[in-house]
Amino acid sequence: MAKRAVRWAEAVDVEQTTRQWAAPAPPAAGAGRPRGVGGGGGGAPPPSSPSCAVCGGKPTEGAALPCCARPLCGSCGVPRRCPRCKAPVPTSEAAIAAALQRAATDCASAARRLGVAYAKGELGLAQDERRAAQLYKAAAARGDAAAQHNLGLMYMSGGKAPKALKWFRAAAAQNHAPSVYNLATAYAFGTGVPRDADEASTLYRRAAMLGSADAAYALGRLEPDAVAAREYFVVAARRGHRLAAAALREG
Ligand SMILES: [Zn+2]
Ligand SMILES: [Zn+2]
Repeated sequence: MAKRAVRWAEAVDVEQTTRQWAAPAPPAAGAGRPRGVGGGGGGAPPPSSPSCAVCGGKPTEGAALPCCARPLCGSCGVPRRCPRCKAPVPTSEAAIAAALQRAATDCASAARRLGVAYAKGELGLAQDERRAAQLYKAAAARGDAAAQHNLGLMYMSGGKAPKALKWFRAAAAQNHAPSVYNLATAYAFGTGVPRDADEASTLYRRAAMLGSADAAYALGRLEPDAVAAREYFVVAARRGHRLAAAALREG
């Protein structure tokens, strides 16, 4: 494959999940579809699906209650009162931060969301990487896949690949697409594991099936056949991948 810098899937919070990892619109009927991407079969288990905090239905990616970051579905929207926190849903940044602080002790998604806020200095909080790491650890230990992913990224940027991969594996076991992508990248580049192109390819396919634009793009880069590569770039571009869109314009 072409030499390029290792690019890890970015840390995700609910907003970024919408922008970077949202499930794609299915390819148009009759459109070419790369092997193993977007199809029903293929072996990867269905994505794990936490339920909407209001109705118990299937949540919409990126939709969450501000007070506790519990997932929501598109039809419920944000209620005035959180059924889980048993309190009015806060609207100001300060009130949201305070609600998350209260909820973080018992609620993994709240701890993760607060961790993201500390990592970025959002919601009026001073940036604090150590506090972010503590919160990610607490949420990761409770099984929050996005927190496991973010913790993995922290370890990876600190040069601790084995610890990073442990958490990517934990999140990947819950079908967290960005972590499956990062595992694939670790195998592709031999970061913390022996380099293994076959394993990388298998994991990129699985991540692409789970909705990862980055994985669809990587498959396009790895694909020697130009026509097949283009199909992967089409999938990635539909998922908002800018480099894939550029590759289509050039090719
Ligand atoms: Zn709902
Ligand atoms: Zn709540």
